[in-house]
Amino acid sequence: SAHTPVTVIGLGPMGQAMVGAYLDRGHPVTVWNRTASRADGLVSRGAKRAETPTEAVLASELVILSLTHYRAMYDILDTVGDALAGRVVVNLSSDTPEAAREASRWLADRGADLLVGGVMVPAPMVGGDGSYVFYSGAEATMDAHRQTLAAIGRPDYRGEDPALAQLWYQAQLDVFLTALSSFAHAAALVGSAGVTATEFFPYAAETFTLAVSMLEESAERFDAGDHRDEGAKVTMMGATADHIVGASRDAGIDVELPLAIRAHYDRAIAAGRGSDSWTTLFETIRKPAI
Ligand code: NDP
Repeated sequence: SAHTPVTVIGLGPMGQAMVGAYLDRGHPVTVWNRTASRADGLVSRGAKRAETPTEAVLASELVILSLTHYRAMYDILDTVGDALAGRVVVNLSSDTPEAAREASRWLADRGADLLVGGVMVPAPMVGGDGSYVFYSGAEATMDAHRQTLAAIGRPDYRGEDPALAQLWYQAQLDVFLTALSSFAHAAALVGSAGVTATEFFPYAAETFTLAVSMLEESAERFDAGDHRDEGAKVTMMGATADHIVGASRDAGIDVELPLAIRAHYDRAIAAGRGSDSWTTLFETIRKPAI
């Protein structure tokens, strides 16, 4: 309910937005940040400033962390000791799946439960309609706090293994960062001939739309291991990948990204799968030794 108290530790852009979402909904919010001045604006909006991490942890059963990485969690909570017992720590910081597993064990040793979360929207969208958050950890803990956590974004629970939320989060950002770099790279390529990125943008958007239209069938083929050619085979796509490397070299721009893509095709060809559909790259990527 709106009366459920929450503690938020870490007041970067994300933590600030989370505190704002809870204050807007009427929750009592306790905050702590290493750099104390970052709490000032939130305190004037009604948040309570804890003087120490221990005070922050004792203020609420639900302790939300929004930090740069999991290392920061240990730096802060190492000083808290017994106060962690019985708390639910919701770590919404980004890190590797393995870091999340390790943190779950570390907190369990101190009597606390960990819910791992990955917020899938930028700070200005936190608490808004489009916001969603991957979670993993004990399902009973998730169920007990789902409603309170929904203030940040729609909870999307992925399972008991604490690593899962980070795995899903990193997979989404894998798509996102690679797509953005591909756009930057392609814009630089046409840009080498004086074309503005603005002029190029609608063409890139069309290609992204084409790629999206191919995802569902590609996913089915990945899942089925069915890589029979249907018009986009490895040798043809690999020749294209090679031409992108050549065009990039001629243009004097970065070649690392196209070289990485070409390497996928080269390896599939070397493995004798040149006549398969490009979808066979899924096998190349998930078993790099083959
Ligand atoms: P920032 O890196 O700007 O903020 C990090 C917070 O962590 C600050 O409060 C900082 O304290 C604190 N911190 C870092 N290291 C330590 C440490 N060793 N000891 C104590 N406190 C520490 O991150 P954001 O707010 O932008 O993001 C938080 C998390 O959310 C990150 O993991 C990020 O990847 C993820 N995320 C961010 C999104 C965004 O749009 N910003 C979108 C989705 C996820 P201090 O103020 O003292 O420096």
